[in-house]
Amino acid sequence: MARPADALQRLRRVHEEAVLDSLRMGGALSRAELMARIGLSRTTLFAIISEMIEQGVIVETRGPDVGQRGRGRPAAQVKLNPEAGQLIGLELARHQVRVAVANVSHQIVATDAMELPAQSDLEAQAEIAVSLVKRVARERAVRLSALEAIGLGIVGVVDDPAVPLGLVSARYSRITARLEKEFKVRVAVDNNTRLAALAERTWGAARSAGNVVYVRWSVGVGGGYILGGRLVRGAHGAAGELGHVSLDPAGRPCHCGSRGCLEGRIGGPALLEACAAQGVTLPDLAALVAAAQDRVPEVCQVISSAATDLGRVLADTVVQLDPERVVVGGELASLGSLVLDPVRSAIASLSLPNSPRKIDVVQGDLGPSASALGAIALMLHEEPVIAEHLRPATG
Ligand SMILES: [Zn+2]
Repeated sequence: MARPADALQRLRRVHEEAVLDSLRMGGALSRAELMARIGLSRTTLFAIISEMIEQGVIVETRGPDVGQRGRGRPAAQVKLNPEAGQLIGLELARHQVRVAVANVSHQIVATDAMELPAQSDLEAQAEIAVSLVKRVARERAVRLSALEAIGLGIVGVVDDPAVPLGLVSARYSRITARLEKEFKVRVAVDNNTRLAALAERTWGAARSAGNVVYVRWSVGVGGGYILGGRLVRGAHGAAGELGHVSLDPAGRPCHCGSRGCLEGRIGGPALLEACAAQGVTLPDLAALVAAAQDRVPEVCQVISSAATDLGRVLADTVVQLDPERVVVGGELASLGSLVLDPVRSAIASLSLPNSPRKIDVVQGDLGPSASALGAIALMLHEEPVIAEHLRPATG
């Protein structure tokens, strides 16, 4: 049976966590604003804030001038201490490592990337990730001694954001172990495309939307869902795998083990193949996007038809999840209306066309750094790792 003192201690932690959550979401807030958000009594809240300021977890700052009604003395606000720690987000993609750095006040202070050599093994990839973090720290004056945590986006199924599952675990634990050893911080992991969705919700095209379907259309096709403001992982960490919705059970075998998957029909290699069949041979996805920007008719036709296939799958998803916004990211999304219009018209005609719902279909804002940024958002919004780390040890 817990002693009353333990219960009080736990209650105190719950209150501290509520203050940290509000400041993470809201930036700088006055004590009155915090009181309104958290619903604690003035005495309790003020005592907790004073203690957190003493511990250096949050700092006091002068808020915006209250205007003529005040006497020139702006209201005091508190915010997360920007000196308290840095966060690093990494994405280990198929051919590249990307990094983003943020302070705990939500400010992104740097992004960078390095190519992975073809057929590099995990040890080599881990070393490249370590040297990328060191390079960005050196060039952008990031204090690695103030590093609080690292988020890592990886390709594939991730069960628990802190512990990759099964084969993925064996595969990636060597990388997380290397990062933990080098930087002496905890590493949180999630699927890279899902993290891109979370980043768009935090800083980009899905900002302020509570229910979002995100799809990344690139060499592969993946997705991520935000429902009720939370990133959806599913029971096995496989939620959002839009590219593996089967359009034809008798179709071409897919690397996932199924047949006729959307990715096999509209992923980068399939698009290049379809263009070649029309007599336009292109070396890679970048060349295909460039040809579409130059309005090569065969290429535009292939992409527009593929976008209609994507739209059909998204229309099914929209019927099932009822989002307010659909965000299309990845290289193909940079083509704007060529991609977005067929998706919009498929959703409009195939997902409850008689309902008065309004669903925005927009292009992602964050470009190639989306997943590395999402690895930071994972720690800010989804993981209790920061609060645990900042919290002083109690006996
Ligand atoms: Zn598949």
